Amino acid sequence: MTNPSPLVIASRNAKKVGEIAGLLAPHKVIVRSVDEFDDVPDVVEDGATFGENAAIKATQTARFLGHWTLGEDSGLCVDALDGGPGIYSARFSGENATDLDNNRLLIERLADVPDAKRGAHYVCHVAVSDPAGEVRLSVEATCRGRIVTAARGENGFGYDPHFLLREYHRTFGELSPVVKQHLSHRARAFARLIPGLVSILRG
Ligand code: IMP
Repeated sequence: MTNPSPLVIASRNAKKVGEIAGLLAPHKVIVRSVDEFDDVPDVVEDGATFGENAAIKATQTARFLGHWTLGEDSGLCVDALDGGPGIYSARFSGENATDLDNNRLLIERLADVPDAKRGAHYVCHVAVSDPAGEVRLSVEATCRGRIVTAARGENGFGYDPHFLLREYHRTFGELSPVVKQHLSHRARAFARLIPGLVSILRG
């Protein structure tokens, strides 16, 4: 059997890359972060959907590096904000926004919305490109919850301290990383992706 090809993760979000590496670890995928390579240009995320942005990240980075590459685009869609911030989740309160800035704006926008109408879901779209820049796998999954005003817990990243899983009465900020790795939008997307990914990388 030939050695499996390495897979580059086209993200500079260290917490996200950590979650992705954790989801792939049991499957012996050789993961490399885009930060390990010099001079990789930043991708312009100008797609209109999570799927388009995931494909842009995967294909542009794959073509530049000549490696199999995984692009992941994710975000929070809030019912009372007509699905926003959606694909703009990372820059909800402006370019270079911190998680704290984005969370503040989220809570401000929901100030007059009662608990019963604070439903939301995370979306995760994953696209895998071959070294020539062709998308070979593409999957999407969601995770449903509710937005709480007071931040709870230190785990996770992004909107996690405000994203409550109804069944657990806890936010992703409070739940352990192991639990998030089973329940999240990312966990669900990777569960769908992994069988095809493992077989492709083995050649
Ligand atoms: P991306 O890196 O362009 O895909 O932007 C993802 C953004 O969506 C992050 O910066 C967070 O604001 C939000 N997001 C995506 N996944 C999660 C998650 O698992 N927890 C909390 N926030 C998330």
